[in-house]
This record gives sequence, structure tokens and C-alpha cells, in this order.
Amino acid sequence: MRGQKVTILEASDRPGGRIQRLTRHGDSVEAGAQGIHSNYTEMLGLVEHAGLRGDLMPLDGKVSYLDRNGASRIPNGNLGITSLMNGRGVRDLSWFVARYLALARRYPQFEIVRDLPAYDNISVEEALNWAGSDFRDYILHPMMHAMTNTALEFTNLYHMLNSTKLELTTKVFGLRTGIVTLAERLASKLEVRYESPVLKILSSGRKVDGVLLDSGETIKCDHVIAACLLMFPLEFYLQN
Ligand SMILES: Cc1cc2nc3c(=O)[nH]c(=O)nc-3n(C[C@H](O)[C@H](O)[C@H](O)COP(=O)(O)OP(=O)(O)OC[C@H]3O[C@@H](n4cnc5c(N)ncnc54)[C@H](O)[C@@H]3O)c2cc1C
Repeated sequence: MRGQKVTILEASDRPGGRIQRLTRHGDSVEAGAQGIHSNYTEMLGLVEHAGLRGDLMPLDGKVSYLDRNGASRIPNGNLGITSLMNGRGVRDLSWFVARYLALARRYPQFEIVRDLPAYDNISVEEALNWAGSDFRDYILHPMMHAMTNTALEFTNLYHMLNSTKLELTTKVFGLRTGIVTLAERLASKLEVRYESPVLKILSSGRKVDGVLLDSGETIKCDHVIAACLLMFPLEFYLQN
């Protein structure tokens, strides 16, 4: 966008979107992007650009499980999980690692270059229906809730294997004052108009003329980049 005048129209009153810091009684927690994985090269580039490199810190949080008696169990590292499971669970885990991670087909992490029907068109629930309750309760369910916010029947095998590889092969970093600091720092260098929801992209023929805001104001422009849900560009393309 070098050389162009850019205005960011943001519906809410703050930068960050789904990434946010929730503060209460002086304590804060992060929601929606607690972790930057070490292979997120574009995002790490932005961290550098925003002068926040020194604020990166490795995250080594642990997962706490409640066992069937309600007692807290904290496994030590990825392998420590085997101490929580019964023999069937360990066997299922070994089979999963051998079949889907060691012997699996190779594909890039961030680009879907071709269809992989055996992975794309099947849910985790269907693909791993052979797994017993320990493997499901200690590994599959928590992982799918944490990585995709959903359940086994609504996640496909491709996405699940991608998440597993990401978790096993990368380090995770946070920012000392929360990842939303990155959005705040970038937004401070840009022209952002908050509380300015866009209602419609205006066009004549195949050419964009501008946008209509919820307030009724019209802003003229040559290009629109929609960085939110697809509803608006979709509406634009359907009309044209
Ligand atoms: C609980 C949770 C945990 C997560 N954990 C991680 C993690 O650890 N690591 C990670 O990398 N990712 C994580 N994510 C995913 C990450 O938060 C999102 O992928 C990312 O924030 C999406 O950014 P975005 O800019 O595409 O969209 P959004 O963050 O959704 O931003 C869209 C923006 O558009 C604005 N907007 C919408 N409609 C309009 C309109 N009509 N006019 C003007 N503005 C509008 C919205 O207000 C919003 O600010 C997590 C997500 C959640 C929910």
C-alpha cells in the first residue's frame, strides 16, 4: 500500500478484532490469540516492525486435567500424557502417531495446494472412530476445543492433523503485555476511524466507487479491502 492513502474503517471502538485483552480488578487475560507460533513468519515480521521484538516471551503453559474423581492431574510435557492414560489409550496414541504423523502424506502447513480427499472430506469423528475413550478424552476432545473451538464431528481430519503438527513442531510465544499490543501499536501508526461500521460497498458497473457507512456517510475511494466476514464482499460480487 506504499504511496496510497489508506483509511481503516473499524466497527468497534478498539483495534484487534477477535484479539483482545480482558481486564478486571487490575488483572488481565488474553482472548483470541494467546500464542504466536515460531513458524508464523509474517506475524513475527510485524512484531519486529512494531518494535516489539524484545517483548516476545516463550509460553510454556501446562494443561491441567480433572480425572474421573475430580482431582487435578498435570502431565509433564507432551509425553507425560501417557502417564494419565490406560494401556489402550497409549496404544491408540502410538497408532495415531505412526499412521498420521510418521507415515502420513506430506503437505505444506499454510497452503492448500491440492485436494486431499482422504483428509479433507472426513470428520475427525469418522476418521478416528477406532479410538477408545482415553485417547478421545485426554487428547482428541481437549485438542479440538482448544485449537478449533468445536467438536470432533465438526472438524475435518486435515485441520486436526495440521493443528497437531503445529503444536508438536513449533515453539509458542506471547507478548509481555498481550498480543493485542501488536494491533494497538500498528493501529497507532495508521489512520483508523473507530465506531465506523461499513454498511455497503458502492460500485458502478465493475468499478468500486466507495463505501456507505452505517451513519449514512459516504466515503469515496478506488479500492476496498474487506478484512472482516465475507458478507460484504460477497454482497458486492453477487450484485455485480
Ligand atoms: C478464543 C480464541 C483463541 C484464539 N487463539 C489464537 C492463538 O493462540 N493464535 C492465533 O494465531 N490465533 C488465535 N485465534 C484466532 C485469531 O484470533 C483470529 O484468527 C484473528 O484474530 C482474525 O483476525 P482478522 O483480522 O481476520 O478478523 P477479526 O479479528 O474478526 O477482525 C475483524 C474486524 O472487522 C471489524 N468489522 C466487522 N464488520 C465490520 C464492518 N461492517 N465495518 C467495519 N468493521 C467491521 C470487527 O469489529 C473486527 O475488528 C483465536 C481465536 C479465538 C476466538
